[in-house]
Formats: sequence, C-alpha cells, structure tokens
Amino acid sequence: MLKIGSIEDNDGEYVIHREFYRQGMIFKDEEAYKFHKDQPCYSPELSDSVYTGNDFLELCNCQQDLADELFEGVDWQHPESLKEDWFANGEWVECEGCGKIINYGDGCNDTKCPNCGKAVEV
Ligand SMILES: [Zn+2]
Repeated sequence: MLKIGSIEDNDGEYVIHREFYRQGMIFKDEEAYKFHKDQPCYSPELSDSVYTGNDFLELCNCQQDLADELFEGVDWQHPESLKEDWFANGEWVECEGCGKIINYGDGCNDTKCPNCGKAVEV
C-alpha cells in the first residue's frame, strides 16, 4: 500500500515527516486511510493540517467511492481545494434533487442522478 512519509503522535502533537510524491512534499498513508479511519492519513504540502479517513468521507458527503477518489487524487493540495477544482471543471456535480455528489467525469457521464433520478445539469 502507498505510504509517503510518516507521522508521529508526540503527546497529541503530530510531527509530520513529508516525502515527495507526484507534485509535492506530503504525508499520505493508504493503510491508515483504509483501515484506521480516525487516524491521520494525509497532510498537504503547504500546511500542517492533518486529515483522517473520516475527514475525507465527510468532505464527500459520506460517499465512500468519492472519498476514495479524492484520497487517491490529492498529491500536494488540501482535499477541499481538489474537490473544488473537480466541481469547478464539472468532474463532480452535486445533484440538485438530493444533494448527493455525482461523479460526472471518468467517462460515466450519467445524465440522471443514480440516487434520486433527477436529471443532471452541468
Ligand atoms: Zn439526486
């Protein structure tokens, strides 16, 4: 599993050891993301913010497949920023009917929300 850098819990203060990955210096731990949802699994390049698997899930409306995609995608930025990018360029669309996030990129291009059936407008 992917492991970039490491993190130490020093009495509640995280000490982040970053390594270079794709675009920047980050900490990223796939095993923590998958199996220890309440433990740090990611820290971006430009801040000491630490994210857990649960944070990714929350950012993605508790939609696991989208959280997985977001976790896979981050390589220097804050997950919030990457998510905004994906919304801005139409890869992700929020359903106006039910509020679920629809993965519009990736060639699946659903024209209806898979959750509630409302037509997707991009
Ligand atoms: Zn919907």
